[in-house]
Amino acid sequence: MTAQALSQRDLATVIGLEVHVQLETDTKIFCGCSTEPADDEEPNSRTCPVCLGLPGALPVLNEGAVEAAVKVGKALDADVAEHTRFHRKNYYYPDLPKNFQITQYDAPICADGSLELSVEGERREIDIERAHLEEDPGSLQHAGGGIDTADYTLVDYNRAGTPLMEIVTEPDFRSPQETRAFLAKLEEVLEYLGVFDSTRDGSLRVDANISLVPADEVGEDGSIGLDALEAANRTEVKNISSHKGAEQALAYEVTRQKNAVQRGRAVEQETRHWDESRGITVSMRSKEEEKDYRYFREADLPPLEVADWKERIAIPELPDARRERFREEYGLDAESASKLTSTKEVADFFEDVAEAFDPDLAATWVADNLLGELNYRDMAVTDVDDRLDEFTRLIELVAEGEITTKNAEEVVLRQMLDEGDDPDSIIEAAGLGTADDDEVAVAVEEAIGENPDAVEDYHAGEGGAINFLVGQVMQKTGGSADPGDVNGMLRERLDE
Ligand code: ADP
Ligand code: ZN
Ligand code: MG
Repeated sequence: MTAQALSQRDLATVIGLEVHVQLETDTKIFCGCSTEPADDEEPNSRTCPVCLGLPGALPVLNEGAVEAAVKVGKALDADVAEHTRFHRKNYYYPDLPKNFQITQYDAPICADGSLELSVEGERREIDIERAHLEEDPGSLQHAGGGIDTADYTLVDYNRAGTPLMEIVTEPDFRSPQETRAFLAKLEEVLEYLGVFDSTRDGSLRVDANISLVPADEVGEDGSIGLDALEAANRTEVKNISSHKGAEQALAYEVTRQKNAVQRGRAVEQETRHWDESRGITVSMRSKEEEKDYRYFREADLPPLEVADWKERIAIPELPDARRERFREEYGLDAESASKLTSTKEVADFFEDVAEAFDPDLAATWVADNLLGELNYRDMAVTDVDDRLDEFTRLIELVAEGEITTKNAEEVVLRQMLDEGDDPDSIIEAAGLGTADDDEVAVAVEEAIGENPDAVEDYHAGEGGAINFLVGQVMQKTGGSADPGDVNGMLRERLDE
């Protein structure tokens, strides 16, 4: 079938991703420079002869980066190679001072994995072709415009040598939305492993390959034959740095390619650049081929033997499994289980709290109260996880009836977060201990005596009157009475 003969609706979208993630290590992959950007650091200050690519400088592999890669391999259910090695990928680019990147070629550390995700309630499995280790290049700052319009470009090697893992998927995505869900899931898994920090600028960068194939090449199970994949002209979109960016760039590409086909033009096989501010992709160059890179063995690094690492290195329970266990073990509903496993730290915190209390109470306090208040303050559980004792003390005070739930939520917890005080001293200073029954009874009598109009309204059957009286009692007791109890006491007295 020729391009002209295809109408838009006869085409299926095919996408494969190459995801670069920075691994969280203290130092760079081949030298001792820190990977942690200092506040307001000067460009090219976090560098040494190795990551600047000076002649004669020799790389030494960072064991931490290899461990992180093995963890990623295990989490992706991939084969972790027993013997692996590094290659030089040769190309000239100003962010690459050696004129080659140390990467892996024919023996990636991980291969043949998969990641399961759900897209709009449907389960999807995306196969991972390979995941290999490499070094991050430096970064370019285009002055006065984008990559294609800048007056000049500055280069900063602080990022050069940050350990990267390139995760290459099979062309298993059938829509831009699926890539977004995949990236979110991948990040969640990597963060659980403790090898990735999504808040770090540029920690995830995506190259997205996209083509259109005749819809009748898609089999019942959604698979597409190799011939059809190879025959399709694809574009590779670079410079994508977020989940949303991936979805937007690919949606743009789908439309652009479909329009080309509809007008009888072939889709060029090329590399395109995602211009986030303009929301378009622009052509950069015809797509390079493997032979262009002149790969050859990196003789400055010995082969890497990681035969027993897969057994030796443990990984934590992953998010899906933990979600499932939370539902079974603690009887949580899907929404609570999902909230409480949103990060490993939240899940750990919840389990610590759940040790001391009924799971429902623990879930309410962690998922609803604590996460809500933290979120409002732009804080995370990691900002308070060293105050577990204070938090459990607060719940204990509520459970024992020492303070009302309302005061605990609206006064004590908030002050704990805003001022860093502990619950007992907040309660004492503010006199928030629950009022005893006599005190409440006195306040009920007072409220009735002082508000004859409201009492009359109540007897006339006006619903709002009781709420007014409850409010009066709450005020008199400084909010330390239980509103439900007060309501009952008032009715009992008024109905006498
Ligand atoms: P290359 O050698 O050009 O880098 P690869 O076979 O290594 O190509 O694949 C690179 C990426 O392109 C992978 O993520 C893969 O899933 C994806 N890919 C392969 N064929 C297609 C296609 N027809 N359409 C979209 N993506 C594809
Ligand atoms: Zn260095
Ligand atoms: Mg490739």
